[in-house]
Amino acid sequence: MNIILIGPPGAGKGTQAATLVKDRNMIQLSTGDMLRAARTSGTELGKMVAGVMDRGELVTDEIVIGLIEEQLTSSTESTGFIFDGFPRTLAQADALSNLLSKVDQKLDTVIQMTVDDEALVRRITGRFTCGVCGQGYHEDFKAPIIKGKCDNCGEVGAFKKRADDNEDALKTRLMAYYKDTSPLIGYYYAKQQLQQINGLNSIDEVGRDISEAISSI
Ligand SMILES: [Zn+2]
Repeated sequence: MNIILIGPPGAGKGTQAATLVKDRNMIQLSTGDMLRAARTSGTELGKMVAGVMDRGELVTDEIVIGLIEEQLTSSTESTGFIFDGFPRTLAQADALSNLLSKVDQKLDTVIQMTVDDEALVRRITGRFTCGVCGQGYHEDFKAPIIKGKCDNCGEVGAFKKRADDNEDALKTRLMAYYKDTSPLIGYYYAKQQLQQINGLNSIDEVGRDISEAISSI
């Protein structure tokens, strides 16, 4: 079973992928992780990756496809792969499709976690944590019982927000996401491989919807 998870920043893609890895023994193939692992692997491809990255050049699609091929052909223990962050372009989607045919595998489904942008912005920008104990809060969904005071450790005035959890930064990330992924949505829709689920439901509900989407194949 090979799937692609598509979803905007903050939609909870990482959380859901982690659940699939744990519950279904799947392997998450994240481009960033693969490149980092390749650098220290000592393989020919790994040396090439290290060289390219050290020279500050962009890693080509051929290299990433090569890394994915290594994973697809060497991991016999898993029940399948979750592609995360790849493909990002139509050329990469074609390359992945060719690779999967070559190693006698296929893409089973593409799950898009859809979100309402305004709700996502609210969800992200409302987050804050206690700077002392790390307890997480949300202005709408999980406010402290006494304003400004941490329920967990009792500290007053220690709440803080992540710098990139502001509305402008998030909207920039969202725009980049739509620009990158919208052609892929059309591509997989046309191939009848796309399934959409509501990414704004609770973590458990989204997890159930993903399970159903996978079972329906
Ligand atoms: Zn605290």
